[in-house]
Amino acid sequence: MRDLDQRISRSDFVRGVVILPALAGLLVAGITVAEAKGSQAQFKYQTKPNGTKKCSNCSLFIPGKTATATGTCKVVDGTISPNGYCIAWAAKSS
Ligand code: SF4
Repeated sequence: MRDLDQRISRSDFVRGVVILPALAGLLVAGITVAEAKGSQAQFKYQTKPNGTKKCSNCSLFIPGKTATATGTCKVVDGTISPNGYCIAWAAKSS
């Protein structure tokens, strides 16, 4: 059991608790992810990074026209700063 606890990171847990039920709800409602996102408040979005974690190095970020321009997010609604952060942050795979 302890090995399992160590393999599950905090971000994995948050993704499981917040995102997976939300996606399941969308599927039940027949809504695609592109049609319905969570609010910034729901995902505790902030316009500043959390240490090294920020939207520009998150796999869910959709960049704007330049590296410093605002973009959008696959799961959070609204305009997203490349220097922002929320609890759904997920590292980009390299
Ligand atoms: S999931 Fe959160 S951290 Fe990642 S791009 Fe969207 S708002 Fe930023």
